Amino acid sequence: MKNSRVCPKCHSKDIILIEGKAGPYGSGNNIPAGLLLKNSVLVNRYVCCKCGFTEEWIDTDTNDLERLKEKYGK
Ligand SMILES: [Zn+2]
Repeated sequence: MKNSRVCPKCHSKDIILIEGKAGPYGSGNNIPAGLLLKNSVLVNRYVCCKCGFTEEWIDTDTNDLERLKEKYGK
């Protein structure tokens, strides 16, 4: 869905991207990975506007996955 921009459930191409963000008071789509807000790992969300299916992806161009593994992978 991230790469194809096609919904795997209903095959619609009506896909929108809601970018992850880390806002105050836990707002935005993210995973805490440290004490500070800026250390949060952002989670991008792809939403099918036809059937409502959503898929979530973490950016692989950063070291976010490594940081999550360090914090949660034990
Ligand atoms: Zn769909």
